[in-house]
Amino acid sequence: MRVTEYIANRKKTIFSFEIIPPLKGKGIEDLCSGIDPLMEFNPPFINVTYHREEYDYKKMGNGLLKKVSVRKRPGTVGICAALMNRYKVDAIPHIICGGFTKEETESALIDLKFLGVDNILALRGDPMKNESAFVPTEGGNAYALNLIEQINEMNNGQYLYEETKNSPSNFCIGTAGYPEKHFEAMNLSTDMKHLKKKVDAGAEFIVTQLFYDNEKFFDFVKKCREIGIKVPIIPGIKPITNLRHLSFIPKFFHVNFPESFSNELEKCKTDEEIKRVGIEWTTAQCKELVKADIPVIHFYTMGRGTAVKNIAKEIF
Ligand code: FAD
Repeated sequence: MRVTEYIANRKKTIFSFEIIPPLKGKGIEDLCSGIDPLMEFNPPFINVTYHREEYDYKKMGNGLLKKVSVRKRPGTVGICAALMNRYKVDAIPHIICGGFTKEETESALIDLKFLGVDNILALRGDPMKNESAFVPTEGGNAYALNLIEQINEMNNGQYLYEETKNSPSNFCIGTAGYPEKHFEAMNLSTDMKHLKKKVDAGAEFIVTQLFYDNEKFFDFVKKCREIGIKVPIIPGIKPITNLRHLSFIPKFFHVNFPESFSNELEKCKTDEEIKRVGIEWTTAQCKELVKADIPVIHFYTMGRGTAVKNIAKEIF
């Protein structure tokens, strides 16, 4: 079923979450151990992230190093099939522009259509680890906007290089939004203009970058509505669970902690204390979002389901 249908039919705020594929070589058990504890909250859909290849140096037999391209977390499409089969939920694959030509993207979309996947989160992807800025793949999509346009063409039965229209797909397309702006954008308003173009091109729902200040989210929703973005906006939420997160999260996700939160975090000396404060903060955030009748809360679990479970127990 399409995300928009779940939202239209909902009686209360929906619980959903996102998983990252396990490291290469791990099995289905690694995947399920993070998912099983969360299934009691009846998520109708689960997102599966996509991870681009990285360049690594591997030792050769002669003692020299060789630069190789490694995909550390493969399996997004297969994992979607496994989730649909095992848990009878909808799986939402993240499809990115980086690393794919348009032909490769089309092939992946055709596979997903045959698998019965109804929703796709269409993203550009971040710059690769060795790149200072995102470099589009030759023959690929440069922005999420172009990827959305490609998916929309397929939804209209128009495949690449075909002169006649064919069996249309019916993907419900989601896109990313940034309440604190995307890190490359000049300012929030230019970023939101780009977001509007993605919606006008066919995106039917928005999932936000994680945030810790609900006011920023509510303000973002208000501004979206003011510029004519009418689609559902799903907040992305991630509890802080260890000391490392205090520097990693602002650096990697380009978000701020509100002062009252950072003041509490600064008093913590151990991971346990951080986890307690992090869960308390996120639980309060979620309670406020539910009170505001937000359609879905999307948790970034990043393989760690227990903190999310503690929060979901209080909310759902
Ligand atoms: P875009 O919408 O293309 O925007 C990128 C930047 O370009 C923005 O600054 C925007 O303002 C600007 N821009 C857009 N259009 C134009 C234009 N026409 N001209 C000039 N500037 C323009 N990454 C992964 O690799 N795998 C994942 O699974 C993944 N999942 C994610 C899930 C969510 C909910 C979110 C919020 C992010 C996720 N990301 C993922 C990270 C995402 O790929 C990065 O944030 C990336 O840097 C931007 O992606 P985007 O789709 O927002 O890009």
